[in-house]
Amino acid sequence: MITNTPLQTTYSHYLQSGGEMGQLIRDFDWSKTVLGDPEGWSQSLLTTISIILNSPFPMFLWWGPELIQFYNDSYRPSLGQNGKHPKALGQRGADCWPETWPVIKPLIDNVLKGGESTWSENQLIPIYRNNKLEDVYWTFSYSKVLDETGNPGGVLVICNETTEQVQSYNNIQAAKNELEFAIETADLGTWDLDPVTNKFIGNDRLKEWFGLPCDEEIALEHAIAAMVDEDKGRVIEAIQKAMAKGSDGNYNITYTIQSLKDQTKRIVEATGSALFDAEGNVYQFSGILQDVTEKYQVQVRKDEFISVASHELKTPITSLSASMQILQKLVKTDPASDKVPMFVNKASNNLNKLIHLLDDLLNVTKIQQGQLALNINRFDLVELIRDCCDHINPINNYEFVFLGDDELMVYADYRRIDQVMINLIGNAIKYSPLSKRVEITVNHDNEQATVCVRDFGIGINPQKLPHLFDRYYRVDAFGHQFSGLGLGLYISSEIISRHNGKIGVDSNVGSGSNFWFTIPIDNKLAL
Ligand code: ADP
Repeated sequence: MITNTPLQTTYSHYLQSGGEMGQLIRDFDWSKTVLGDPEGWSQSLLTTISIILNSPFPMFLWWGPELIQFYNDSYRPSLGQNGKHPKALGQRGADCWPETWPVIKPLIDNVLKGGESTWSENQLIPIYRNNKLEDVYWTFSYSKVLDETGNPGGVLVICNETTEQVQSYNNIQAAKNELEFAIETADLGTWDLDPVTNKFIGNDRLKEWFGLPCDEEIALEHAIAAMVDEDKGRVIEAIQKAMAKGSDGNYNITYTIQSLKDQTKRIVEATGSALFDAEGNVYQFSGILQDVTEKYQVQVRKDEFISVASHELKTPITSLSASMQILQKLVKTDPASDKVPMFVNKASNNLNKLIHLLDDLLNVTKIQQGQLALNINRFDLVELIRDCCDHINPINNYEFVFLGDDELMVYADYRRIDQVMINLIGNAIKYSPLSKRVEITVNHDNEQATVCVRDFGIGINPQKLPHLFDRYYRVDAFGHQFSGLGLGLYISSEIISRHNGKIGVDSNVGSGSNFWFTIPIDNKLAL
């Protein structure tokens, strides 16, 4: 295949210039290779080498049956430090690339056999350089070079190392994935409005909130249609203000959206910024949308709580202060009066109410700081419940009916379970103004004890049940018929969950409520 036709013109013309590689080629002792001295090289080999040496593009040549190698200065950095260079020059391909030969040899053979030139983009071909096997990416073509006989004499590789581009792309891709993961985890909607075309792009979460299919584009009208009517004007104004010439570009607004599909409402906080070009024209407006419904509701409940708590604390304090004033007067004017014990009793009741309210507030603080410690003991749960009822009902005003077990020994925190029972039985009485009957059932299986407190009072709207055990939640927040802070059930549910138990309720308006909880009989916390 290879022909080394003697030259008319001197070969040295073809090996001129070429920087470091030109010099190395000229200095190389070619007589030790199958190619022999350059005087004997074929015209096509010399021409190809001349092209390689004069090209600023990285080039590499395998020539002859042994695939002897040539390359230029532009290619040389790809061989790294302390690696194949300069040994690769004049070396047999198979000796130079043992680590990648199984990949590249078939490509070379295919081209030499007359196949099509190859074109590979960003292909990973690890090579040994810089004292280690490195992952190196290449975009390259293999094309045949014909010798004087018209047969393929070698394979010319024009290539470009793209490791940096591929790594940058991979890094950007990884950062994008990380960002998408963060957005997904944080449950954020993202949006981007093209101010020129008015095209609106949103992520899947946003489309879901708007009630649009994930594979559909969002037109700006869709985004506006998903806002509740009363907020539309305000939001459009804020968008226009953020995008106006001379604006600081900041956009932050809270409003309500309603799914176009199932009418679900969400309170969202939109944050974004507009970017302006040198002329002050807006060219990008993008940001995020956060579902703040829960946060907003907690805030509303907190506000309600503060007003309810002030009212609840004020009532016994006013009463206590009135009793104290009367007592002070009586002590001076008529200390033996039979009204003294009555007002002392009244003052004491109001004081107890205050202690109870403050206890609840302190318990909430403890729960929030994770300091609700349990003191586990073994006791009879039924006896605890009976004692609790006696305490609540000293003059038998209420009819407590005990069902189920007569005795049930459990491991739990006596004081905390007592607190739960006082709350559940207290509520059963408080929210049953027309009924005196409360049924208390204690059951058990091998693992857990179940306690149910059933009343026949006002009951609860089933729609309100999911929030019943939330902090500050009261079904009728501003109703003055029943006093309370909306903390008892929250504290009870925390106590039960600290015992690894469950708490719940079945109820309907007008037909009473059945509050229940379970706790493990042999509580592992006791060990
Ligand atoms: P509160 O101090 O308001 O009673 P709770 O946390 O104990 O606070 O109860 C939360 C709300 O649940 C109450 O405000 C009331 O609306 C409702 N609730 C609790 N128990 C009952 C019950 N047995 N019957 C009807 N409603 C109840």
